[in-house]
Amino acid sequence: MSTKAPERHEFQAEVKQVLDIVVHSLYTDKEIFVRELISNASDATEKLRHTQLTEKEIFDAELELEIQVTTEEEAGTITIRDSGIGMTHDELIENLGTIAHSGSKAFLNALKESGERNENLIGQFGVGFYSVFMVADKVQVYSRSWRTEGDCLCWTSDGSGSYEIETVEGERRGTRIVIHLKDEYKDFAKKDRIESIIKNYSSFVQFPVKVDGDTLKTVEALWLKNKNDISEEEYKEFYKFQANAFDEPRFWLHFSADAPLAINTLLFAPTENMEGFGFGRMEPGVALYCRKILIDSDPKNLLPDWLRFVRGVVDSADLPLNISRESMQDSTLVQKLNKVITKRFLKMLEEKAKNDPEAYDSFWQSFGLFLKEGVTTDFAHRDHLLKLLRYESSYTEEGKTTSLADYLSRAPEGQKEIYYISGPNRKAIENGPYLEAFKARNIEVLYMYEAVDEFVMNHARNFEEKNFVSADSDDIDLDAIAPETETDKPEALDAVASEDLCKFIKEKLGDDVSEVTASERLVGSPAMIVNADKMMTAQMRRMMKAMQQKGGMMGAEPPVKLQINPRHPLVKNLASLHGSNSDLATLISQQLLDNARMAAGLLEDPTTMVQRNYEILEKLSQQ
Ligand code: ADP
Ligand code: MG
Repeated sequence: MSTKAPERHEFQAEVKQVLDIVVHSLYTDKEIFVRELISNASDATEKLRHTQLTEKEIFDAELELEIQVTTEEEAGTITIRDSGIGMTHDELIENLGTIAHSGSKAFLNALKESGERNENLIGQFGVGFYSVFMVADKVQVYSRSWRTEGDCLCWTSDGSGSYEIETVEGERRGTRIVIHLKDEYKDFAKKDRIESIIKNYSSFVQFPVKVDGDTLKTVEALWLKNKNDISEEEYKEFYKFQANAFDEPRFWLHFSADAPLAINTLLFAPTENMEGFGFGRMEPGVALYCRKILIDSDPKNLLPDWLRFVRGVVDSADLPLNISRESMQDSTLVQKLNKVITKRFLKMLEEKAKNDPEAYDSFWQSFGLFLKEGVTTDFAHRDHLLKLLRYESSYTEEGKTTSLADYLSRAPEGQKEIYYISGPNRKAIENGPYLEAFKARNIEVLYMYEAVDEFVMNHARNFEEKNFVSADSDDIDLDAIAPETETDKPEALDAVASEDLCKFIKEKLGDDVSEVTASERLVGSPAMIVNADKMMTAQMRRMMKAMQQKGGMMGAEPPVKLQINPRHPLVKNLASLHGSNSDLATLISQQLLDNARMAAGLLEDPTTMVQRNYEILEKLSQQ
């Protein structure tokens, strides 16, 4: 074979532009050149495999399909060799001397759009093959095409204006890239260093990757496999590897779609909620891949914030590999991915809730808070999320929950609202005064134990056109919905007496209450505090008070409405007492208010109340 003299070629002007920026940029993420070259090697090998299916005659047909990386630390070189399709003379010129290929082209387009020589752009795009010139002052690409006809060639460049191509002897099929590292980057020629970079970016390359002869542990890209060929055990193992997790996944969602985007996705719901353990806010953990090559291990906008507990992989062949973090996060592509994936995940949860309510309930116990956060922050998915909420109620047993849809299915015809009540726990709610009226009419009330629930109700406002209403609102007309089941009730004060008593109490309580009224809603309790403003529930008052105290503005408590029960013996006695013993009646009125405050969770400092209590006892013991 005759060896011709090396031919010199000028890079196309656009390539020069890219190279100039690559070489002179201060871009810090130098290691991505490894990812770019391994992904090219993997692509070329994959193409060879396809070619084998249709072509009979393939050069070096017996060659093992693998990627070999060797390091020569002394010399400061790295060699990356594949047994892929290789390149012919014209392909070398076309592929490495001009810009026709995806990544670098996108880079150039962005460059044009930005209208200036923007150094930051390289941070936003890998630039494929050319990224190697960030770290190398000389690169040799030996290549032998799969076609039986043709030469072994060596393409050489220092990344400035030109490159050379010459014919060489004895190369096997595929491409071997020898990277001569610049002095300051000789560190990359350390075996450990290269290994850890490959592990990070290229764990799922489907061909064996060897570094200095040792095969790296690569993992099968499970998300690209057919569901039917994957065992439960494999899913669990994959989760542990990919999410670096110590727990098991609760369940997973594995799906592919071709439209509107080509995606393969495998998402996991973990068992443990790390935020619940007080580990601080979780970081998103769904990694973005393009055909098995990592693009970003924790892309920020791939899923809505409230899905940050989800782990797994999204792989889209539609993503340009070279796109990188900054530009990707705002790209419309990522927004589309976000939309598709979120919808599928919600649908999966809905199906779970239907088909395996126990598993869903357990998930809800650990991760319900995230869904609640979603209701308050993500308008687009609110309706969907509301279907996933679960609460205990006056109809459920302790520890059992109901969905809003089931709640409504049980509601009487005339009920136009969804009732809920907040409290620290079931017992507190059931012993408080608010539930009585609902219980007496068999109207279901949802129990809410967490501070965030009030926000959820206020943000969502309604479900299936039924408004959420706190059971401590004052303008609920329960009789319009259903009559009291108990007909044998003690007699109530007459209208005049009860109005008279209300006036007395209001006078004695002064500005502590905005209004005192008699209420038909109470059954076993003498009095309760209700909220005139639906947005200002007891829970909100507590929170506001806490905030005021933190801010040091111990302002006066906002006045409340007091409702008294005209059928309660205590109230009836008080009606006759205030004429004969105004002092004692005043003390009892004040005590009534404090007790009602306590039931609403609004009594901060009990000392006055206790003091007054003694006073009342003292007066009573004198009689
Ligand atoms: P991209 O991979 O986005 O196309 P690159 O700059 O990484 O852009 O590579 C440019 C082109 O060079 C590739 O499209 C491919 O045709 C060719 N190429 C690069 N590396 C190899 C390789 N190891 N074997 C065969 N062809 C390669
Ligand atoms: Mg590439």
